[in-house]
Amino acid sequence: MTAKLIKGTEIREEILNEIEEDVKKIKASHDRVPGLVTILIGENPASISYVTLKIKTANRLGFHEIQDNQPEDVSEADLLALIDTYNSDDSINGILVQLPLPKHIDEKKVLNAIDPDKDVDGFHPVNVGRLMIGGDAVKFPPCTPAGIQEMIIRSGVETSGAEVVVVGRSNIVGKPIANMMVQKGPGANSTVTIVHTRTKDLAAHCKRADILIVAAGVPGLVKPEWIKPGACVIDVGVNRVGEKISEKTGKKIAILRGDVDFEAAKEIAGSITPVPGGVGPMTITMLMKNTLKSFKFQLGIA
Ligand code: NAP
Repeated sequence: MTAKLIKGTEIREEILNEIEEDVKKIKASHDRVPGLVTILIGENPASISYVTLKIKTANRLGFHEIQDNQPEDVSEADLLALIDTYNSDDSINGILVQLPLPKHIDEKKVLNAIDPDKDVDGFHPVNVGRLMIGGDAVKFPPCTPAGIQEMIIRSGVETSGAEVVVVGRSNIVGKPIANMMVQKGPGANSTVTIVHTRTKDLAAHCKRADILIVAAGVPGLVKPEWIKPGACVIDVGVNRVGEKISEKTGKKIAILRGDVDFEAAKEIAGSITPVPGGVGPMTITMLMKNTLKSFKFQLGIA
């Protein structure tokens, strides 16, 4: 069997086009667009490239976009005051603080200072709580898990009653996606197991999965014989395993590998996400979707 490829790059385009249309309509009726601020501290090259991509996407969608760059030595107090300014700025619907932060700044304090109603990353404890309650309580699901669920829904995979096994229990992927899949509602209603480094028989759990979601950060961790024939395999892992010269640009780029042995797994799975081009492109897309949602809440049209 050769699995159907679940391509994040294609699903991203579908969703971005939907957001673009929505923004145009709301602009015509309300003469306003969603506002997003990205706060970047220092000059970490990976952070700069993530922020650049977020800004590019926000601009494509016609958002009001503010890029606020702060020096590496910005004080915690100044950063908290800056967040407060954006919390009370009505033209801003989403506040993004690019992580990681310099060591002298308490990350938790900063993330908790963002108004939960502008926390489009979905990391504030209030939004984590809302996600746990589920249903109408959810405002901003965290972006990578939201992207995973959207990919599952849009590729027509049955989730109701499905055995879902999640490898990994991080706060940004494993725990929230497990929580989302177990809720009552479309794209969920699953029976969920979370496995991690202390799990006794990882292979046995994976073999039961109708939907296997792997977010461990270990290249090739999941072996083909752990996959149930016909299962949907979502590989969240992004592991740099070397470098190569890009054919397009002639520049050095990272060779990326997922947590699943893709080449062998695609002969057993029913559907599978590639790395790169699978879950990766979905995260920024869902960030934009959350920003639009925040804007709609503000206008009372959500
Ligand atoms: P993380 O915080 O390091 O968590 C990894 C989890 O996997 C932990 O719960 C760990 O278990 C578990 N794990 C690690 N090795 C294992 C093993 N051998 N057997 C069973 N469980 C194992 O990582 P994360 O932030 O969730 O990210 C996971 C991967 O997804 C990374 O490759 C990351 O780059 C990628 N990622 C991609 C996106 C995207 O595409 N947009 C977004 C986020 C993350 P313990 O808790 O027991 O240590």
